[in-house]
Amino acid sequence: MLDKLNPPQRAAVLHAQGPLLVLAGAGSGKTRVIVEKIAHLIGIGRYPAKRIAAITFTNKSAKEMRERVAKRLRAEDAAEVTICTFHALGLKFLQIEHQHVGLKRSFSIFDADDAAAQIKDLLGGSNAKPDDIEDVKNLVSRAKNAGLSPEQAMAAARSSREKNAAMVYALYQARLTAFNAVDFDDLIRLPVQVLEENPDIALAWRERIGYLLVDECQDTNDAQYRLLKQLAGPAGNFTCVGDDDQSIYAWRGANPENLQQMGRDYPALQIIKLEQNYRCSNRVLRAANALIAHNPHEHLKTLWSDQADGERIRVWECRNSEHEAEKVAAEIHFLATSRRIPWSDFCILFRGNFQSRPLEKAMQLVGVPYHLNGGTVFLERQEVKDTLAWLRLIVNPDDDTAFMRAVQSPKRDVGATTLAKLAELASAKDMPMAQAAEAMGALAQLPPRAANSLSKFTDILRALRMDMRQLSSGDLVRRVAKDSGLLSELRNQAKDTGSYERRAGNIEELASWFEGGPRGASAADMAAQLALISRNDKDDGGNQVRMMTLHASKGLEFPYVFIVGCEDGVLPHQVSLDEGNLQEERRLLYVGITRAKVQLWMSYSKLTRKFGEHIRLKPSRFFAELPAAEIQRDGADPVADAAHKQERAKAGLAAIEALFD
Ligand code: ATP
Ligand code: MG
Repeated sequence: MLDKLNPPQRAAVLHAQGPLLVLAGAGSGKTRVIVEKIAHLIGIGRYPAKRIAAITFTNKSAKEMRERVAKRLRAEDAAEVTICTFHALGLKFLQIEHQHVGLKRSFSIFDADDAAAQIKDLLGGSNAKPDDIEDVKNLVSRAKNAGLSPEQAMAAARSSREKNAAMVYALYQARLTAFNAVDFDDLIRLPVQVLEENPDIALAWRERIGYLLVDECQDTNDAQYRLLKQLAGPAGNFTCVGDDDQSIYAWRGANPENLQQMGRDYPALQIIKLEQNYRCSNRVLRAANALIAHNPHEHLKTLWSDQADGERIRVWECRNSEHEAEKVAAEIHFLATSRRIPWSDFCILFRGNFQSRPLEKAMQLVGVPYHLNGGTVFLERQEVKDTLAWLRLIVNPDDDTAFMRAVQSPKRDVGATTLAKLAELASAKDMPMAQAAEAMGALAQLPPRAANSLSKFTDILRALRMDMRQLSSGDLVRRVAKDSGLLSELRNQAKDTGSYERRAGNIEELASWFEGGPRGASAADMAAQLALISRNDKDDGGNQVRMMTLHASKGLEFPYVFIVGCEDGVLPHQVSLDEGNLQEERRLLYVGITRAKVQLWMSYSKLTRKFGEHIRLKPSRFFAELPAAEIQRDGADPVADAAHKQERAKAGLAAIEALFD
């Protein structure tokens, strides 16, 4: 296998002692180096599989990497390598070391919505302004990503805005602890805290993880970098790969400075650069190189490729986003049918999820099967969240957020007054809501109907907790949906049988996910894993056109790529323009362009509608940074256009003839 790599790639795979950073441009085989290196280290017996951990940026890339590693190794070895995201690794860590941060093993994970609901509540509930909630939430998250505890955040606060946020952070954290819960940011921050404060635990983990590999290193935030440092220890047996030109997650706290910091923290750090791109056609690559050269660089990377020149980048001017969507859908349909290209070879990229609507409509109209990443994601559906709340509450009786959701789904005679009383009692007695409910239902300090309802609820809960031990994870989900009354409520609410079947089907899908987990995984483990599957992360695969944001496309590749909405104010985004973050937007487009293996389209609209008014749009300023020789504007090349038209006509004719065959 090693002889299939180029010399610097091979050097990176063979480098086994001390810290290594592979710093290289898009499509140069960084991820491939990680896969090969895992296989190599295990293959030569340098490390046993269970002492190797590889960190990827998304669950989806972890899955892909696992599949690629599995092809190289014996099944029992492949199953033992840890390949996951930073968050999943943090979860694994806390499941073992939970007692050091005052958590019980059954802790819950709050998703972004749960966290936002708590912060809203702390800021005064419905009186709180959405902007304030958002602001405080971001400040809390930023403090956590910087690895600060509430006390440290308070000490570091300068303005009254920051002081206020630090105060909310402290209250919010106290609640999380009371609920035996953590949020996403804690999955990194808490392990860092444990490792930094307990050298013996750090030593034990360095023993457990002998070798660490990290993909997309340019997008680690400070807390993640500290986790990496703790796990690697002073010897620094790690391989990190990254590309500072593809750092696009600053808004989530990513800090590409960490790449420089790594050099200071590890004086022995070796740096290997890769310069051959194996992914893109030469025209696409030259365009990407020219674009990114407009960002300041210490050392400009010059990527080259021995692939053919390929087609020029087609730039389309469209009337509006509907027109644009129709053109894209028609082109994909034409190429797929006339040249027998599978749907899954196409990908449409956009700056924001809102841009997917006209595309979806056009795809449906033209009859192109598509898959939208991060749309109304399965896990965000109401019935799925309700079922998960029940599961969380069964596993972790302290989880008050899950309690509040479960007790109200399905609807029962437990109103706001009862819940307020319950909360009061719970906090006076310092007990979780579920326990207070048992006490209160029994004590009947409530109107009989509410008391009755509440005690029925706690009875169901208790029975389900007993069932948990006997049932498989999947059957537990089914039992919960049935016994909780969720299914019958769905049936009663459904306007038609179709909608009932769809929603009940989602619960069944959840059950089969639980079944599909690793052998021996409990429902508790599965619920925790599910919480980690983030919005952009689930990919159903299959032979469908992919549609996703530019951010979600990092690390992926497709033969045919369309980038839509290339307008000033959209790409580059207005917020970034206002804040002077043009460079980050340029990197984002660089990521998008370098996803294309064979051909690339870029399109923009002339008009958009806002509040009923037509507004003129300007093409993205980035077009001016692409070499004219690599671009073909619509209508600019009559000969090529005519050939294209002729080919289309022929394909149309063939389709008609096929009808009469
Ligand atoms: P990105 O920066 O987008 O994450 P990357 O540097 O991780 O890209 P890979 O995804 O590893 O690049 O590789 C890009 C493509 O080039 C893949 O299809 C990969 O299989 C192929 N490739 C990488 N190295 C080689 C090689 N030595 N020979 C042939 N193909 C290669
Ligand atoms: Mg990669």
